[in-house]
Amino acid sequence: MLLYIVPTPIGNLEDITHRALRVLKEVDLILAEDTRTSGKLLQHFGIETPVKSHHMHNEHKQVPMLIEKLKQGASMALISDAGTPGISDPGFLLTRACISAGVEVNCLPGPTAFVPALVVSGLPCDRFAFEGFLPPKKGRQTRLLHLAEEERTMVLYESPHRLVKTLTQLMEYCGENRNISVSRELSKKFEETIRGTLTEVITHFENHPIKGELVLVLEGKSRRNRQ
Ligand code: SAM
Repeated sequence: MLLYIVPTPIGNLEDITHRALRVLKEVDLILAEDTRTSGKLLQHFGIETPVKSHHMHNEHKQVPMLIEKLKQGASMALISDAGTPGISDPGFLLTRACISAGVEVNCLPGPTAFVPALVVSGLPCDRFAFEGFLPPKKGRQTRLLHLAEEERTMVLYESPHRLVKTLTQLMEYCGENRNISVSRELSKKFEETIRGTLTEVITHFENHPIKGELVLVLEGKSRRNRQ
């Protein structure tokens, strides 16, 4: 009667922990966001535990049945395509349902994209706000207005095709001198971090192809950058 939340690598397979591998081998069932993506990882590490798909389109329907099985004594591990489940990935619904039902939840420490991006940004990381993805349409302006006033460092996830639009909007709302750090392909071969003011970083990405996965780390509002 235990649910493990198991982080998996965000690029570099060496980042899986010994404990994650042991748990994935020992549980009765692995719940995976994408069984094909996770199948490759599990095969690579010789894990033969049964796998069931658990993603944003079936999680609402599946949770009651999973809770029943957990209460009957099953142990399960939840994994997502990359990083820590529940962090901009499915995980919250099942975790909340387990807690309500008295099922123990254990989250293993492990890979997630926002921590390395925040730490290498060089921006204050003693206090920060994780914002995940900005809403694509509805609620976007309200969120941007709110972010412009936030005094803590902010961490955002973004896709390459929306990067310049998002940076441009952040500049409109936060001012052109606000500092930002953009990390891409963390833990992978072409990992890099571009740091500068919003104007400088926009110019960089207008002149370089934008590929791979990205994390944005935005400086909080301070006396220095008050508009
Ligand atoms: N659960 C994941 C975590 O713990 O970070 C996040 C999943 S979310 C669906 C995917 C987003 O995470 C990507 O669009 C990107 O913003 C960020 N991301 C994931 N892997 C990354 C990497 N290797 N480098 C930079 N950003 C990454």
